[in-house]
Amino acid sequence: AKQTGRNNFQFFSAEMNSAINGRLEMMTKLRRALGANEFTLHYQPKLQLATGKIIGAEALIRWPQADGSMISPAQFIPVAEESGLIIPLGEWVLQTACAQIRAWEKAGHAAIPVSVNISPLQLERGNVVDMVTRTLAETGLAPQYLELEITESVVMREVEKSFAILEQLKALGVKISIDDFGTGYSSLSYLRRFPVNTLKIDQSFVRNISSDPNNAGIIQAIISLGHTLNLNVLAEGVETEEEFRFLLENRCDEMQGYYLSKPVDEEAFVQLLPPSDA
Ligand code: C2E
Ligand code: CA
Ligand code: CA
Ligand code: CA
Repeated sequence: AKQTGRNNFQFFSAEMNSAINGRLEMMTKLRRALGANEFTLHYQPKLQLATGKIIGAEALIRWPQADGSMISPAQFIPVAEESGLIIPLGEWVLQTACAQIRAWEKAGHAAIPVSVNISPLQLERGNVVDMVTRTLAETGLAPQYLELEITESVVMREVEKSFAILEQLKALGVKISIDDFGTGYSSLSYLRRFPVNTLKIDQSFVRNISSDPNNAGIIQAIISLGHTLNLNVLAEGVETEEEFRFLLENRCDEMQGYYLSKPVDEEAFVQLLPPSDA
């Protein structure tokens, strides 16, 4: 028994070691990639359901590899969070997205608002308000074209602190979305107080709308809650015509998802933009 115990311990510890080494290796690669400017942004359009127009986009980070593959943000964002690298990486995302909107505008396209994901550590430790102020000044972007997506769970973790930051961001003129809404236990009284513009219904509720009556009911409830509070409601992860129709019939304001378009690179996204006189 002792023998087995020791073997188990050694096995466990070897696994732990390789997990730690894997993260360290990823961290080193991330730091180098940031310095070498290897990251890129893809853009996923947002559609206004009532008009059928593209009225915005979400910027999503991509890490292309030498062999043509991509490492998913789901894999490296948590490591960037743990290591603090998300602070400079997040600043790069913000600067790149703001500069991109300006570039579209200068190329004669209608300017459209782009949203950028703000990670928990950025909100807690990075000085988001300074970072946004600086970036708007540097790029000359009008604040109403920038939207920040903050996950519901993060806002709820430190309500008073988040509230103060959101108020300052609102004063700058940027827009705020609550991302992954429905998964983070917002209380209704907080929601009423928070200076946010949009609720983004988490894609887990959108999935299987037709087969899962609970999801359909939750979506209807979020839409009506959002409208009661004068908020814009967006459904994300919309993949099928059925889901699309359900949202249209239930007067959801906006949608985003593979049904309309996957996130695409800058060259492909610009093809989706209306001309500036539209
Ligand atoms: P998120 O902010 O909730 O973004 C939505 C994710 O769903 C994206 O995955 C998007 O590509 C994907 N998606 C969009 N439409 C559909 C659909 O119809 N079906 C399905 N199955 N998926 C869809 P992605 O790009 O892999 O990003 C994953 C997560 O990584 C994001 O979740 C966000 O939390 C984080 N992330 C991505 N880019 C950034 C960034 O620049 N900064 C930070 N802090 N986090 C980011
Ligand atoms: Ca998001
Ligand atoms: Ca989301
Ligand atoms: Ca998410």
